[in-house]
Amino acid sequence: MFHYQAQWWQSRLNGRCRSCKKERPDPVSMLCIPCYKRYKRNGSPDIPLPSLKHEIKQAESILSRYDVTEAALVFDKWMNSYVTRGGTLNKLCREFFVTLIGCNNKPLMDLNQVIKQTLAVSLYDGPVDEKRQQQQYLYGRASTSLLGQRKEVKGGRYHLFDVMRRPRLFKQAFNDVFISGGIARLLARIRKAEGLN
Ligand SMILES: [Zn+2]
Repeated sequence: MFHYQAQWWQSRLNGRCRSCKKERPDPVSMLCIPCYKRYKRNGSPDIPLPSLKHEIKQAESILSRYDVTEAALVFDKWMNSYVTRGGTLNKLCREFFVTLIGCNNKPLMDLNQVIKQTLAVSLYDGPVDEKRQQQQYLYGRASTSLLGQRKEVKGGRYHLFDVMRRPRLFKQAFNDVFISGGIARLLARIRKAEGLN
C-alpha cells in the first residue's frame, strides 16, 4: 500500500500540467501556476468565462414579458434569512444582495437580476468545461453575483476579488442558491413557456 502511494505521488510530481502540459505542476491540482490562476478566475483552466453579452440582452427581452413580483417576495424572504448565516457564501450574498449599492440606489443583485443572468447562462451554447463542471459554476455565479456586466458600484467591490476566485464556492452556490433557492424551478418554468426545452 505504502509502495503504491509513493509511486502515485512520484507519478504526480513527475507529471505535467493537465491544461498546458508544462512540467512540474502543483502535485495536488496538477496545474501549473498560470493555469491554476485561470482556473480560479474562470472555473476552468482551458475555457474562459463566456462574456454572455448577447445572451444577457436576449434574456432581458424574454424577462420583460414576465411578472416576477410574487416570486420576488418569496425569494427576498428566503435570501434575507440566508444572508444572516455565517458561511463564506452567505457573506458573499450579503454583499451582493444587501450591502453593495448600484447607481440606481438599489442592491446590485435581486431576483430579477438572478433570473436574467441564469437565463443567459442557459441560453449560452458555446463550449464549457464539463470535466470541471463549469456550467454548474456559471449557474452558481449567476445566482449570487454580478456576471458579464459592468456596473458602477458605490464604494467599489475590490475587497471581493479573492472570494470571487473560488470555483468551489460557486459550485456550492449552484446547490445552495440556484437549486435550493428555487431559481432552477423558476427558470424551468420560463424556458418551458418560451418553448426553449
Ligand atoms: Zn499549465
